Amino acid sequence: EKETTIINDSKVELIDNNHGVESDVTGFASKALVQRVLKEQIARVDVDTCEPGEEDAFYVADLGEVYRQHLRWKLNLSRVKPFYAVKCNPDREVLRLLAKMGTGFDCASRAEIDLVLSLGVPPSRIIYAQPCKTKSYLRYARNVGVTQMTFDNGDELRKIKDCFPDAELVLRILTDDSASLCRFSAKYGASLEDAAELLHRARELDLNVIGVSFHIGSGASDPCSFGKAVKDARYVFDQAAGFGYDLKLLDVGGGFVDETFEVFAGNLNEALEEYFPHNVNVIAEPGRYYVATAFTLATHVIARREVSVDREGGKGYMLYLNDGVYGNFSNIIFDHQHPVPQVLSAAAGGDKMVEYSIWGPTCDGIDVIADRYFLPGVLDIGDWLFFENMGAYTKCSATRFNGFKDDHEVIYISSEPGASALLGY
Ligand code: PLP
Repeated sequence: EKETTIINDSKVELIDNNHGVESDVTGFASKALVQRVLKEQIARVDVDTCEPGEEDAFYVADLGEVYRQHLRWKLNLSRVKPFYAVKCNPDREVLRLLAKMGTGFDCASRAEIDLVLSLGVPPSRIIYAQPCKTKSYLRYARNVGVTQMTFDNGDELRKIKDCFPDAELVLRILTDDSASLCRFSAKYGASLEDAAELLHRARELDLNVIGVSFHIGSGASDPCSFGKAVKDARYVFDQAAGFGYDLKLLDVGGGFVDETFEVFAGNLNEALEEYFPHNVNVIAEPGRYYVATAFTLATHVIARREVSVDREGGKGYMLYLNDGVYGNFSNIIFDHQHPVPQVLSAAAGGDKMVEYSIWGPTCDGIDVIADRYFLPGVLDIGDWLFFENMGAYTKCSATRFNGFKDDHEVIYISSEPGASALLGY
């Protein structure tokens, strides 16, 4: 099947399985393996004779990365059960691995719930973490037994009373997400003042509130965000007790980032210790943390234009790739990312740094991947670039604008024998 080409690579056995503790060493070996697979793949394509589409952009996904991130999570946040945020990258192999490793799942739509259930995950391992739900989806959640869900307003309570009165409700509160890449608090979350009113309303409607959730914003950069949010959640737990609710679930949301994970985990653990010492189940909804580093994208140079880059007559080039912001680089627009180009193959070679601007294939001027970037050597039509860290909020938000495709091939590999064993690779 095209989407799930699997390379059973004996060299993965050479990679030291250090359970993510010294992830630099493993990460380095993983990168070397990914680059080898990328090169093998492009060697199969003759751009002068191939059929349309055979030279399309493609991903290599190292599921060993996802496996290591999970071990790292367990090492640093043993008290917090991850419910992977499916929206971030609903790749079936990623979900299959996470399901086998025992994570839960954060779903925000009927299709996401379906996808996770289709893997045999029991509905108790799903939280419907969307405070403003479609009514028919609520009825669907009830039919398939997904009982845990978030809310943050009184109208939602009314809807839930109509469609799913036995649901287990988690009150999403506002956080200060000003230090994050993607902010949600203008759209979701009840203030502490409104929380009391909502709990009162839930009590009147005889609804079952079981916990509190928050999200510090995706791509968070202030590790203190967790301390404040956990303290606020404690306040709401105590308020809820006043309405006769004995809350048992704290959902600390997503926001974790690969580079800063240990620092954030440390702050979260301290806050949990201080405000929730016992008897509360703590879950989280990490997305980016699990998948960002696992996916590498290879793109092909389809066109080039020579331009002057300075008054002294220096030459640079505009490169046009076969993927852009309407495709897998949608993370530039929606996720405020700056993907870093690297040379995968260049016929001419050379080390001299040359100035480029890098563009996508659609006719729209907004379709720019990098305004100004220096790469070694003179690149030409037929060469390939690759971009690491393309696993989060990329493929899932790609469009078909201009007739380009949104379902690029993924080649799955595993740099961890543990992941290969779970997946049957
Ligand atoms: N949970 C909810 C409710 C979200 O909206 C998001 C992201 O949009 C996530 C979890 C995942 O966030 P992240 O990828 O930053 O971990």
